Amino acid sequence: TLADQAAVAVERTTLVADIETARVATERERLRAALLSSLSHDLRTPLVSIMGAATTLGTYDEKLEAEGRQDLIQTIQDEAERLNRFVQNLLDMTKLGSGALKPRVDWVDLNDVVSSAVKRTERLARRHGIRIEIAPDMPLLCLDAVLMEQVFFNLLDNACKYAPPGTPVKVWAIKTPKHVAIEVSDLGPGIPPEDREKVFDMFYRVNLGDSQTAGTGLGLAICRGIIEAHGGSIHAEPGLHGAGTCIIIHLPLPPDLADIKGYE
Ligand code: ADP
Repeated sequence: TLADQAAVAVERTTLVADIETARVATERERLRAALLSSLSHDLRTPLVSIMGAATTLGTYDEKLEAEGRQDLIQTIQDEAERLNRFVQNLLDMTKLGSGALKPRVDWVDLNDVVSSAVKRTERLARRHGIRIEIAPDMPLLCLDAVLMEQVFFNLLDNACKYAPPGTPVKVWAIKTPKHVAIEVSDLGPGIPPEDREKVFDMFYRVNLGDSQTAGTGLGLAICRGIIEAHGGSIHAEPGLHGAGTCIIIHLPLPPDLADIKGYE
């Protein structure tokens, strides 16, 4: 009968829906497992190095000359810094995800924000010449200086990490009639076209096989979150003549002072 046919159709639809729910649940479970294993790995790797170095330092050995000791101390400092950066990134990410990370904007000089980020890249930056070219007519911008410093730090850190030592890294910025355009470029291996959007996803990393550089896959996702919270956009392109990576940021122009009531 018609009723029987309807009942069968409903059952079939329910079955299809159940299968879909199960599929989504399995996919979510798979993602959760992958995320946890990636997190544990990223937390454990630096911890193991720190514990190893601390143990060697702790066993008093006269043969451990000053140079060796200095190396071990440097390892502890570097790895602790890496852990700290990772945890900071995770915190930023949770805040961005929950919408709790609201930019606290103020008038800032782009030169100051970029210079502070360059200072923070320290050792890595020394292996590259970082050139900063900000157009002299760049106005003061309405930005959250702390968050924007994090963006430039993540981008410069990537450029110095992925591009071979000795190759130049450049920060270039101009003001156009529509927006402020900022580029951070390097002459490294570049990002394959099919990965250029995905690298802004959380935990996405380009598969480089054995030559994989240490990282978490969070840096660019955080950059995009911060830039979008400022009403801007960010994307990746190849550099000049197709070489290297160029990360392009567009930010809205600062409000016109003449439009702000009460501003003389
Ligand atoms: P992480 O560097 O910690 O892996 P990111 O989110 O900063 O995470 O970057 C995601 C991926 O994008 C990296 O794993 C890398 O494969 C690729 N990538 C980012 N910046 C560059 C760059 N300047 N040159 C080449 N590849 C890059």
